[in-house]
Amino acid sequence: MLYRWLTHLFRAGLIFTLTGGLASIPAAFADKSGDSNNNEILVAELAEDESVEDVEHSEPLRSSEPESEDRQPEAEAPEVEPSAVPETPASSDDIAVEEVAPNVDLKEVAPTPETETTTKQDEASSGEEQSEDREQPQQLEEASSLKMLGSEVLPGTSTRLAWSPAIQIAGLSQPTPVLVVNGSKPGPNLCLTGAVHGDELNGIEIIRRTMYDLEPDKLSGRVIGVPIVNLPGFQQGSRYLPDRRDLNRHFPGSTDGSLADRIAHSLFESVIRHCDMLVDIHTGSLKRTNLPQLRADMNNPDVAELTRGFDRMAVVHSTGTTGMLRFAAVEAGIRAVTMEAGESLRIQEHQIKAGVNSLTSLMDKEGMISRMFVWGDPEPVYYDSEWIRAEHGGILFSEINLGAKVSEGEILGYVSDPITNAQHPIRASSNGRIIGMAVDQVVMAGFAAYHVGTEAEVPGE
Ligand SMILES: [Zn+2]
Repeated sequence: MLYRWLTHLFRAGLIFTLTGGLASIPAAFADKSGDSNNNEILVAELAEDESVEDVEHSEPLRSSEPESEDRQPEAEAPEVEPSAVPETPASSDDIAVEEVAPNVDLKEVAPTPETETTTKQDEASSGEEQSEDREQPQQLEEASSLKMLGSEVLPGTSTRLAWSPAIQIAGLSQPTPVLVVNGSKPGPNLCLTGAVHGDELNGIEIIRRTMYDLEPDKLSGRVIGVPIVNLPGFQQGSRYLPDRRDLNRHFPGSTDGSLADRIAHSLFESVIRHCDMLVDIHTGSLKRTNLPQLRADMNNPDVAELTRGFDRMAVVHSTGTTGMLRFAAVEAGIRAVTMEAGESLRIQEHQIKAGVNSLTSLMDKEGMISRMFVWGDPEPVYYDSEWIRAEHGGILFSEINLGAKVSEGEILGYVSDPITNAQHPIRASSNGRIIGMAVDQVVMAGFAAYHVGTEAEVPGE
């Protein structure tokens, strides 16, 4: 088994550099030889689809209490000061001697990051030692250095760091690029994660575009981006880790658990704990597609407030489940949402644009940047939602498109039995909008086919 996926790794082994990397994706995903069919079957057994699970297993949305003006959240998350980056080294990565990270223009083409950040000292900063401004409260208005992954990122600079989960098998210890823009003004730390599922590509490009347009001297706060969390999965065109586990069921992880637990723990301690806000970017899976949308625990007032920063986005209430990065982050006091954009294994321009626009809007509303031109400022739309499943196996043919408004009883599509020629209609169970759906394909009875959203009240109003 080990041999088998190692062979896969080597066969798929593409040299990936972050900036030019998207051009090489087709080569990696084109390599689907016959024996990978077995894997596909196994994959289907492993998990349904988190975009289904995290909605269906969600606690219902609590109605807001309009009578009390200043209601207190029941489980109040600890206040996270923007400057309160954990001082104590969170993991072995951080114990390493900190070096000032080189200031890199992220728009420039870069070589593949090295494992050790033993890059030459940046000439500009070689002489001076940064003073510990955290000990001087009167300097709170000053931006401070960000110390992570063994490096110190000075205010007003951007750089590429490398996160390595320290798993001692070739291919897994490969360093994963971490982009950091540390603004010249103080503000919150926003983290962006992509490709926790290795076959979800839109988020990689959303993060690249969002971050490469940031100018450190115009930014208040920091943006930390991990475009490809699951690098081995990405290289194989697979949602899963090489041990066939779903990384997004293992956060915050542990040091002595499965491979997935250890990778999750390493990411959580060395990157995620630096965040005040987290947007974890995903796509649909198993040939399902989504309108650009957020999954957020609207029962959590801090999270609900965060969602208001995203314009034009559909927001679907979902508490999330144990093991998800979003869920673990919220438990750790980090305001976190999942962004779902489009389909897996595809690069979809309109989904990417919507994602970048929404993240830009968020940074604007959080006071991190100021947009020069804002054409209107549409609020997000909030939905309660429900998945409608196929009652029969066969071939699914949809009658409606993603985003369509539907009314109760309307036929959304048919499942056609290719043997008996029976046609089984699937009908909308409520009035609403199709916010996610399966593409036409062979389905089994019980397959979640249409995600119908019903507009819900806007939180806090
Ligand atoms: Zn995903």
